[in-house]
Amino acid sequence: MAELKELLDVLKYPSKEKVALITKAYCYAEKVHAGQTRFSGEPVINHLFETAKILAEFGMGSRTISAGLLHDVLEDTDVSAQMLLNEFGKEIAFLVEGATKLGTIRYNGEERHVESLRKFFVAMSRDIRVLVIKLADRLHNMRTLRFVPKNKQRRIAEETMQIYVPLAYRLGMRKIKREMEDLAFKYVEPEKYDKTRKLMKKHMLREKSLGTFKKRLLKILAKEDIKNIKIDIRSKSVYSVYNKLANKNEDIEKIYDINALRINVDTVADCYKVLGIIHTLCRPLPGRIKDYIAFPKPNGYQSLHTTVFTPDANVAEIQIRTHEMHDSAEYGFAAHMMYKLKGKNSDDSYYSWFKQFFPAPQKSKFFGNQIDPERLAHIPDWIKKLVDVQSYVTIPTEFMDNLKSDFFQNRMFIFGARGGVVDLPVLSTPIDFAYEQGAEIGDHLFGTKVNGKLVPIGTKLKNGDIVEIISKKGSHPHEKWFQLCNTSLAKKQIREGLSQIKM
Ligand code: MN
Repeated sequence: MAELKELLDVLKYPSKEKVALITKAYCYAEKVHAGQTRFSGEPVINHLFETAKILAEFGMGSRTISAGLLHDVLEDTDVSAQMLLNEFGKEIAFLVEGATKLGTIRYNGEERHVESLRKFFVAMSRDIRVLVIKLADRLHNMRTLRFVPKNKQRRIAEETMQIYVPLAYRLGMRKIKREMEDLAFKYVEPEKYDKTRKLMKKHMLREKSLGTFKKRLLKILAKEDIKNIKIDIRSKSVYSVYNKLANKNEDIEKIYDINALRINVDTVADCYKVLGIIHTLCRPLPGRIKDYIAFPKPNGYQSLHTTVFTPDANVAEIQIRTHEMHDSAEYGFAAHMMYKLKGKNSDDSYYSWFKQFFPAPQKSKFFGNQIDPERLAHIPDWIKKLVDVQSYVTIPTEFMDNLKSDFFQNRMFIFGARGGVVDLPVLSTPIDFAYEQGAEIGDHLFGTKVNGKLVPIGTKLKNGDIVEIISKKGSHPHEKWFQLCNTSLAKKQIREGLSQIKM
């Protein structure tokens, strides 16, 4: 129970009801998982506790935290969805079921499936909180990856890099993204990881000098009557140093922000005041002062950046922002939710989850009613592809509606029997699926099994079907396939295949 208290202490806005709910979920999970252990030898409840704690740190509500405690119940115990529903109600049961479903998706190492897999992931989750639970779950799994059998580590790390890291990034959850990315990098590219780490260590000497500088600044800023100051030393992640090195001719001396001082204050006015004080104390490097408060980055990031010569003649980057800007940079959409709802029961407002992927342009406070093409440029490609982008440019509100309904009504996800997943328009058949895998596979399509049963190749597929393609060397496309397929890709390939036979 000592652990439970530690979890409750993290709650941002505890209330009697919230504490009671989380306590109930904790005790329930502890009971049904009793005796189960992880690869590390630790009891399973430790993993559930850590997952829930990560969610609490993100500022998620009590129902999401409870679902985090219960997220492995359906998979690993005898508890049924109905039992969960009776015990904890619809919302928590829904979140746990969603997280369980997402757990069955596997990245099989095939690059071309990655985009579909990500889309599938998002589509299946339906509610953004399900994604966040999976992110928290995965983060703790990555923290304990060293206990997992060697032959599994790499696959899990690659899956993390390909699916979870981009999702965390897209949700604006930089803190979790950074940590996950470094944990995965170590297993995916062990040599590059070690090499970069070593290089960084050599240059981390500055840390001590930064520490001295930090203490001095705290004193000076306190005298200037700036309240509620928080100063942290943050180190760049190994992975981003590795990437930056590639752009800087592998010269680590050119990366000034391996370490940086991060100063958080209450108000925007204080941010500029702090910048002024620092520049009075230390000479800034020319050309390195950036005002992302007045001119936020297209992804919404706000902060003042400057690089100065510290009193002991080192070079240090300093980032100054308000606590709110900081939380929004680190926790992304979760922080947004937290600030918007403050003490209210954040679980109660059901978020239209897709809108959280990027700020609604028509309501942007920086661009008024104008749709800024810059912003549009930063919407990830895979989201743009979900809908016709044209409609976005002309009627943004409709775009948002389309985004919610269209894609899921008109697309479905089909699994390959040997792994992988593709998304196809509804009414597609195994012929479409086969051509989606490649022209060769389509052309030699001979028969097909759907969910393990032999069916005609023109059978209409349903969302979630598992399709096995049976190929035969002597098999060729046939005229009648045109009537039996749905995608323009398949039609084009069949036409080409037919013309080759005729020649
Ligand atoms: Mn888990």
